[in-house]
Amino acid sequence: MEILDGKKAAQAIKDKLKIDVAQLAAEGKKIPHLAAILVGNNGASETYVAAKVKSCEEVGFKSTLIRFEADISPVKLLEKVQELNNDPDVDGILVQLPLPKHIKESDVINALDPDKDVDGFHPVNVGKMVQGLPAFVPATPHGIMLLLEHYKVETKGKHAVVVGRSNIVGRPMSILLSQNSNPGNCTVTVCHSRTHNLKELCLQADMIVAALGKPEFVTADMVKEGAVVIDVGITRIEDTNKKSGFRLKGDVQYETVAPKCSWITPVPGGVGPMTIAALLRNTFTSCAQKN
Ligand code: NDP
Repeated sequence: MEILDGKKAAQAIKDKLKIDVAQLAAEGKKIPHLAAILVGNNGASETYVAAKVKSCEEVGFKSTLIRFEADISPVKLLEKVQELNNDPDVDGILVQLPLPKHIKESDVINALDPDKDVDGFHPVNVGKMVQGLPAFVPATPHGIMLLLEHYKVETKGKHAVVVGRSNIVGRPMSILLSQNSNPGNCTVTVCHSRTHNLKELCLQADMIVAALGKPEFVTADMVKEGAVVIDVGITRIEDTNKKSGFRLKGDVQYETVAPKCSWITPVPGGVGPMTIAALLRNTFTSCAQKN
């Protein structure tokens, strides 16, 4: 069993970006600028946004964090999005999800300039991705593709089972893995909460991408010997022994599943860092298009 170390792979991407940004600066060109919007004070969202901003600093990007109270009106939020759309200095706009219930997430996503939608959630980017055209691809599935590429994991002709069909992870993941690309060229089965024979399908999988948000859902009896297992899940489990008061659990029961795998991602340190690396790559691309 080998580990798909997201920390290492993400660091390699960040090191390269750092060099590329330094070169832009040396040439007197614009450096990438990511604007992140955080609404309310959800603990997990705070952590994710802070990690994204910190990573921007690490590679030499400019970043702006815009915070709003949880009760901000949808109109005010949309005005801010418009302002960032019109700001030539901003290359990427990130709206941390989930948003409070009174704000319709699709309204905010649809208001983003697709050319600055570095999370790849805007329908224009989704449509382009589906057609295999250049597009901003959602950061988590993009990060997983970069991780498979980094470790040269063979995916061609493999049966991939993606558990979860959300717009931000499962659905785009299934599309990317099925595309005529490397990594890619998989035969893909998408599973969800109404799938009847999930265990049997997982047992047929050469690769499982678990993205359902149920801690330790995938157990050893669901995994074929030699499978590649990508664990996207992050759930906070209360743990009084930790300073933070919680620990992170993936959707895969790591201890029992890992010995059966050819490759597996740990949680933390697998998909999470790659999501941030992919977001940085998208922001760099956006800036490069302007330069
Ligand atoms: P969603 O809740 O939006 O989607 C979950 C999906 O899993 C749905 O399609 C749902 O099916 C399916 N599902 C739920 N229960 C089952 C079940 N028992 N059997 C089969 N399918 C099931 O979650 P996200 O896609 O946003 O996130 C998934 C996980 O990934 C979460 O733990 C999240 O925290 C994590 N995550 C991690 C990231 C990272 O950087 N590592 C980034 C983004 C997310 P249905 O459609 O029928 O409801």
